[in-house]
Amino acid sequence: MKKQYIIPIFVPHLGCPNDCIFCNQKSISGQKNEMTKEKADKIIKNYLKSMNKEDAQIEIAFFGGSFTAIPEEKQEELLQVAYQYVKNGDVESIRVSTRPDAISKPILRRLKKYGVKTIELGVQSANDYILKRINRGHTFADVKKASKMIRWNGFRLGHQMMVGLPESTRLDEINTAKQLIKLKPKMVRIYPTLVIKNTKLEKDYEEGTYKPLSIVQTVEICKDLVRMFADKNIDVIRVGLQTTDEISDPNNEKSEVVAGPFHPALRQLVESAMWYDAIVGKIKKLNVKVKEVEVTVNPIDANNVIGHKKENVLKLKDTYDVDLVLKQDKKVKQGKSKIEVTKTYTD
Ligand code: SF4
Repeated sequence: MKKQYIIPIFVPHLGCPNDCIFCNQKSISGQKNEMTKEKADKIIKNYLKSMNKEDAQIEIAFFGGSFTAIPEEKQEELLQVAYQYVKNGDVESIRVSTRPDAISKPILRRLKKYGVKTIELGVQSANDYILKRINRGHTFADVKKASKMIRWNGFRLGHQMMVGLPESTRLDEINTAKQLIKLKPKMVRIYPTLVIKNTKLEKDYEEGTYKPLSIVQTVEICKDLVRMFADKNIDVIRVGLQTTDEISDPNNEKSEVVAGPFHPALRQLVESAMWYDAIVGKIKKLNVKVKEVEVTVNPIDANNVIGHKKENVLKLKDTYDVDLVLKQDKKVKQGKSKIEVTKTYTD
């Protein structure tokens, strides 16, 4: 199978007509200046130089602001640069991320003309009250309409949702996942809400009207969401924001994060918690006092079974007095496992 690479090009806030209360796009993208065709070309060239193009599936991704809401000439300028690399065969496709209310037939026609294959929509929540509370500027009806248009026009659809938004409950987040599943995305990203400097959310946080989720709460809800999407074969391509100088531990000097469940390995925490649940579920089903359990997984899953800083091993010992023995076997499919009780206290 070909290895997938993404060349990310961040197009900051300039396109967005909105001001979501959690967003300071300039901090998120780690880039305060406008993106130009020259800069985009340089980024692509530099990435290509560092990649082994043999057996690689390379995609250029315009992330950051709302790509299809930036001025048309700017979209054309950036897409033309990226499309050169699709035409010469160096790059396989292009993806953009945007707002649901910045999708229309002419926009989709333009994206198609330049070889865009994937469109990711920032959804955040399916609850219109929450969308209004965060000043999102669109409703969930816009998400439905845009998602259908994207699929019907032959693009791969992606969704981005958030957990821990102001006044959002666990039920809202589960419901958002259910609503998204109905719209048949190929992939989703799940982001925790972080309090970023110079945003309305920072004010709310300081005034005590917004309380962010803890890391444990974030892991608990993300675990359920990942499971729901995985059950429907929807790829969860990211859990948590990418760590950059600005999006990093609030104690770092350069960090723009004031508070919230930032963790550099949030995805691993979530996956490990899922493995822990699977192992404990197996143990609880048996009518014996388990002393040792042997878990065989694909090497790719090994770290997640052990857990971040061996958390699963320690928790199993502390809570159930069970020793976890890990075995790796390439023949076991990724995400699958053989869980066997190898010692009981009656042995
Ligand atoms: S729509 Fe996106 S870019 Fe615009 S303010 Fe909201 S989160 Fe930021």
